[in-house]
Amino acid sequence: MAKYNVHGGHNRKVPGASGVLDEVTEDRKVKNAVIKYLKAQGHTAYDCTDDAGTTQGKNLANIVVKCNSHDGIELDISVHLNAGRDDDEGDGKTGGTEVLIYSTAVKDVAKDIADEIAKEFDYALRSDETTPKGCAGVKIVKSLYVLKHTKAKAVLIEPCFVDDKDDAKVWNADRCAKAIVRAITGKAVAGGSSTSGSSSSGSGNKTTTTSSTPFYKVGNTYTLQSNMVVRTGAGTNYRAKKHSELTADGQKHDKDKNGCLDKGTRITCQQVKKSGSNIWVKCPSGWIAAYYNKKTYVK
Ligand SMILES: [Zn+2]
Repeated sequence: MAKYNVHGGHNRKVPGASGVLDEVTEDRKVKNAVIKYLKAQGHTAYDCTDDAGTTQGKNLANIVVKCNSHDGIELDISVHLNAGRDDDEGDGKTGGTEVLIYSTAVKDVAKDIADEIAKEFDYALRSDETTPKGCAGVKIVKSLYVLKHTKAKAVLIEPCFVDDKDDAKVWNADRCAKAIVRAITGKAVAGGSSTSGSSSSGSGNKTTTTSSTPFYKVGNTYTLQSNMVVRTGAGTNYRAKKHSELTADGQKHDKDKNGCLDKGTRITCQQVKKSGSNIWVKCPSGWIAAYYNKKTYVK
């Protein structure tokens, strides 16, 4: 059994970001549930959250002192929520998930965490020029105090954005915690993944939860049920294409020029690939998750 340090970012005296969601409120729910589920699997989980620091610097220093007071830690888990999307109305596109690390030594577990969260909520995986190869959703950041000063391996998780209505609509702190624990321990949390069963109230994206897996045939045309990211390959580990990389016809069906094909676009299926229980369909512009997490996005 392993030992983990877990904390929620910020505190009420020096609050984090807020928008549609409030960062401190949500990160506390996630860290409490992560601790609960790790302990349920027999692991040791320390709560290194700081509610006393009255400045941002003190808050960070207090967290690091608590983390570093424990020996033999497998991983320091810092839970935050991201900000900066400024999308309180909802544009049909999620801000998505990123996991920040200090060095590539931590990239594998960081990638697993990013993937599990993104899969749980159909969030986009966020990458930039620091993202290690094959690790969409992971970024290397040298400037974050906690990552820099903790002695064990550390990850700082930004599961989604507080100021993105599309993220908030499907967000659930408990399911996020289960996804994190699954990724870290490789074991599903007792009670199983909550992706099965009924999906949340179903506002917004018109996806259909089906009991039977849809069938796609090369040469047939299908309709997108939602705005869809187009990827360079059949999997969320492949990068999302830009508007300019879509075919001329594809670009016409990307009105907001964000690289996503608009809901209602008709596509011709050129290739089908299964990955686990998910099904990817290739259209002339690229790969689309046609059936993902038991939801049908293309039919
Ligand atoms: Zn934060």
